[in-house]
Amino acid sequence: MNVRAQISMAMNLDKCIGCHTCSVTCKNVWTNRQGAEYMWWNNVETRPGPGYPRQWENQNKYNGGWALDGGKLKLRIELGKNYKPPSLQDYYEPWTYDYEVLFSEKQTEQQPVARPISLITDEPMDVAYGPNWNDDLAGTDYILEDPGLDGLQKEVYAQFRDVFMMYLPRICNHCLNPSCLAACPRKAIYKREEDGIVLVDQNRCRGYRYCVAACPYKKVYYNWKTGKSEKCILCYPRVEAGQPTVCSLTCVGKIRYMGVLLYDADKVLDVASTPDPTQLVRRFIDEVLLDPFDPAVVEAARRNGIPDDWIKAAQRSPVYKIVKKWKVGFPLHPEFRTLPMVFYVPPLSPVVTTFEKTYGAKITDVFPKVSELRIPIKYLANLLTAGDTSLVEQALKKLIAVRIYERSRNVAEPGLAEKAKAALAEAGLTEEDAEEMYRLFALARYEDRFVIPTNPKRYAKQPYIERGVVGLP
Ligand code: SF4
Ligand code: SF4
Repeated sequence: MNVRAQISMAMNLDKCIGCHTCSVTCKNVWTNRQGAEYMWWNNVETRPGPGYPRQWENQNKYNGGWALDGGKLKLRIELGKNYKPPSLQDYYEPWTYDYEVLFSEKQTEQQPVARPISLITDEPMDVAYGPNWNDDLAGTDYILEDPGLDGLQKEVYAQFRDVFMMYLPRICNHCLNPSCLAACPRKAIYKREEDGIVLVDQNRCRGYRYCVAACPYKKVYYNWKTGKSEKCILCYPRVEAGQPTVCSLTCVGKIRYMGVLLYDADKVLDVASTPDPTQLVRRFIDEVLLDPFDPAVVEAARRNGIPDDWIKAAQRSPVYKIVKKWKVGFPLHPEFRTLPMVFYVPPLSPVVTTFEKTYGAKITDVFPKVSELRIPIKYLANLLTAGDTSLVEQALKKLIAVRIYERSRNVAEPGLAEKAKAALAEAGLTEEDAEEMYRLFALARYEDRFVIPTNPKRYAKQPYIERGVVGLP
């Protein structure tokens, strides 16, 4: 067992309100400069939809991530052969507005209009796409571009505005098996031993953009001004001081959690090469991620030089609880085989009263059954568990059981206590679990959401992944 520690993140999609505060604060801090105008290290997508850059999940278009070749991992991009980074049109042409005209126009019958001006050419332009193009739009033709709806009735969903919609905030996943790193011929990308953050060494980068093409999440960006690639740095100067990332700190919905995950680096390649991607998710959570209370894990962690305060932080980690203990958090598109270290709690659907009002459907209880939810479980499974609906179903059952349990503690209704007990039993939760989940998800206090130990550098020796070695063809 080769125990490593990583600062990771979990996001509770149930609570994301699509306000984009995370994106804006991230932009203000990190990408508010020339060459980075089109970059959104953090972006929030309305799903279903084409996302940013457009159709980033479509690996037939971009060839990102890993494939299995004779049982062995192989980058889908072949250097010099099928290199397909997104074009500026796939992201969008960044623009500002000619605000001056609003102040300097002479008085006329019509209001003056501030035209969009390209931040690339400084010329007036027609806006054709954006990082948030189908914001709050469900039931449009845009959803036809979402591969998550493959196998579902795409065309039907495209016709009904109110059917379903959800938000998906995205950052770099600081993966355990990062294809961006493996694709870099300059070995400019590295994963820090001390906290797992994946960074681009700006001194080594020569702007070949193989990483841009190879990241299946399209979370490395090319800066036209510096001629180098750059990406989300998980706010490492803040994290080193025990502070959450800017996107997490400013998150209005308090959906973000940060903490240490211990994992077995020796298992990474084997698990990433699991033939069946649905088994890959299970093995990732069961075998790669480790139980920080297991004495053997603690001993192996100490042997690897991981300090005691980090091990204690791993035991208090909200991400550990969400992903490993309760199994309600999953990685985005695990089938890309990069083993992402950002996890998502799948959303329940909108409140029942809205459902009843809009559709006149008879709901059997205050809280809907998993089978009555508006967001198709298959859609969530296509996003988070490589299509395995049973994992998502089990997670949603837990989230509903916690609600029923908390309601039973606060509402005097005959039979509710028994119902709560049955719901918890069916979901495989104890009352203590339900209490703890309620505190973490509903109250979401700062000290529970962010358990970030300081000063990781004191035990770092070298990047644990030999640069470029992981999975290189
Ligand atoms: S998401 Fe993973 S593959 Fe993409 S840039 Fe981040 S670490 Fe690299
Ligand atoms: S700030 Fe939080 S709630 Fe708002 S869009 Fe971002 S992740 Fe969602």
